[in-house]
Amino acid sequence: MTVLRGGAATDVGRVRSNNQDQLLVAERLFAVADGMGGHAGGEVASLAAVEALQTAFAASPSADGLAEAVRNANQAVWGRAQQDPELRGMGTTLTAVALVMDEGDDDDLLAVVNVGDSRAYLLRDGELEQLTEDHSVPEELRRAGRLSDAEAASHPQRNVLTRALGIDPQVDVDCFQVTPYRGDRLMLASDGLYNEVDESDIAVVLRRIADPEKAAEELVKMAREHGGNDNITVVVVDVVDDDSRSARASAAVANEPPPAARRPPDAAPRRSAPVQTPASAGALPTGRAAGHPRRGRGVTLRAVLFVGVVIAVLGAGVGATAWYGRAGYFVGARGDEVVIFKGRPGGLLWFKPTVAEPTGAFLSEVLPGRAEDIRAGKEYGSIGAARLYVSNVTEEATPTTTTSLPSSPSTTVAPPAPVL
Ligand code: MN
Repeated sequence: MTVLRGGAATDVGRVRSNNQDQLLVAERLFAVADGMGGHAGGEVASLAAVEALQTAFAASPSADGLAEAVRNANQAVWGRAQQDPELRGMGTTLTAVALVMDEGDDDDLLAVVNVGDSRAYLLRDGELEQLTEDHSVPEELRRAGRLSDAEAASHPQRNVLTRALGIDPQVDVDCFQVTPYRGDRLMLASDGLYNEVDESDIAVVLRRIADPEKAAEELVKMAREHGGNDNITVVVVDVVDDDSRSARASAAVANEPPPAARRPPDAAPRRSAPVQTPASAGALPTGRAAGHPRRGRGVTLRAVLFVGVVIAVLGAGVGATAWYGRAGYFVGARGDEVVIFKGRPGGLLWFKPTVAEPTGAFLSEVLPGRAEDIRAGKEYGSIGAARLYVSNVTEEATPTTTTSLPSSPSTTVAPPAPVL
């Protein structure tokens, strides 16, 4: 049986007046949530998310159950935001790791889920690796090859998220799986840590301090000393027993004649492709097929397989194009009217955009630069995000008479985030 031991620390930092981060350390489930939204919104969002995650995961403690629990948490935050006008627009990141049973072979697995820009890291054999991908504007640009690592790290929009819980009734959840080996150490952290402390310095602390709670406390202390511009939260999870999986793995490697792999095939973190749709969340690859020797199959069979693959690829291409052509929304112009369309600006192949809903706004009511953007078509993944953009651009053109609160959160969900 795999046994985990967790420790955590959190701090408001040196600039903010309240701590909107939330953490969870339970026997098999660990999480960090970084809330955002004015008034009490950020705290309400991160707490609601973590509570809903815990409840839903307890009812279905599997890898799929964890992804579903994140979607439940999204619904919980979204629901609260709809009920209370004071909380409208609140949201939260959520990064969690859970010990689950692999449905395939009854072995233990670590399931990692992520929405937003909190992160999960794995320290294995002294090497620190980031498991999750941030859903923020500069990180999406960096992954698309349009920004360098350094440019992304210092990007002015690095707090602008492209995905968060509570913004839309639906959310895409990234899912990863890691086979736990004794000595592995996972770390979950809000951006208040990694924006202040270099990864190499984080790794030094994680290697040096054996006690997970003391390690978390030290990292939080360092982030404070480096500026503490944001709330800081760190959860450290150690694999203290792995049911002698690492011993078996070493023995298997020792007995294998070809010294090709220093580790068994699935000793490396198994990273499934980020789950893009709720429907595909149930189909995480197990990776168990790796490492089997390939034998020659008959030419005929190979030819049949090849033709089958070609047909499948062509079919998938057409399907993907159809999906892409119809997916998404954009804010565009119909005459002088601002309208939300479904589809892609200008259409894609034979898929023409259709009007999803009129907004009641006109180009003459928004700033000239925005009107230009709207004429070109501003793309969004959901109708909720498109609506938010419209309400933001009409609001920014309206002179405000109310005074705004002095401490508006610097982390916001981007209404005008580009579709990348
Ligand atoms: Mn933060």
